[in-house]
Amino acid sequence: MAGAAVIIDGSALAESLKQDVRKRVAALGRPVHLAAVLVGATPAGEMYAQRQADACRNVGIDYELRKLPADVTQEQLKQEIHRLNADPSVTGIMMHLPLPQGLDATRMQHEIDVIKDVEGVNPANIGYVVYGHTIIAPCTALSVIELIKSTQREIRGAEAVVVGASEIAGKPIALLLAEQMATVTLCHVATRDLKLHTRRAEILVVAVGKPGLIDADSVRDGAVVVDVGINRITLADGSKKTVGDVDFDSVKAKASHITPVPGGVGPMTVAMLLRNTLRSAELLAAHQR
Ligand code: NAD
Repeated sequence: MAGAAVIIDGSALAESLKQDVRKRVAALGRPVHLAAVLVGATPAGEMYAQRQADACRNVGIDYELRKLPADVTQEQLKQEIHRLNADPSVTGIMMHLPLPQGLDATRMQHEIDVIKDVEGVNPANIGYVVYGHTIIAPCTALSVIELIKSTQREIRGAEAVVVGASEIAGKPIALLLAEQMATVTLCHVATRDLKLHTRRAEILVVAVGKPGLIDADSVRDGAVVVDVGINRITLADGSKKTVGDVDFDSVKAKASHITPVPGGVGPMTVAMLLRNTLRSAELLAAHQR
């Protein structure tokens, strides 16, 4: 029915996830300690790290920021990751991106201990998802699944279309939807007729980085629409605004459920990093490491 979409409240969902993490951290009986590696700190990187530190402290997770200079070599960064891998007091490791030019992020992510890899970015962790033995899955993809589940829409058997096929967002999202037994179509920049696919979607996830890419005409009546995109746009009066990839106002008149930007996937991804950090610590405890 026109105008009837339920706005999925990612902030509220994130809050309840954090409360659950806080209880489980307290119940674990040993410290949960996240080490975050920041290479060549920029003001934006520092601000993001500060927010992360606050989020961790709020749920009882110890947060340590390991700052390395922008001219650090690949070998030195690798050594630092290995040191954190071997440190029994460190239960989780993440690396802030982007890395300065000359450093290979994928190779460095490969070095992170599979169990301490709280972002689920080590290729082995993606591989385990494929084989159905998930250890740690990527935070954004997990958030998308939780947001869809919160709508009570059955994922099994649903036509799910993911737009955007990056390693960090689109591909892992498609993988987790496939694991939940959706019929998944993965669209990207080379997709010939995007609307042909998006109009079939009962579940539509968009992770591209192009404001307004998906309008009401691209959406099936009653679809669940999850907007992963984060774009800063300048309005006619010169002010700035954060929007997603989906034209929220027109699509909400057609969808059954829709995530807002901000307030949808973003806060859930932060909360999911905390849940993954707890999971790493629980797995290490189970392995007596
Ligand atoms: P990316 O640039 O790495 O990948 C973009 C993808 O979109 C590519 O697969 C490309 O093929 C596809 N694409 C480009 N133009 C297209 C078009 N016209 N039609 C269909 N597909 C097209 O970007 P990314 O890192 O995956 O991020 C995508 C967006 O999601 C960005 O806005 C980013 O800020 C946001 N993001 C949000 C979160 C979060 O937690 N909310 C996390 C990660 C990324």
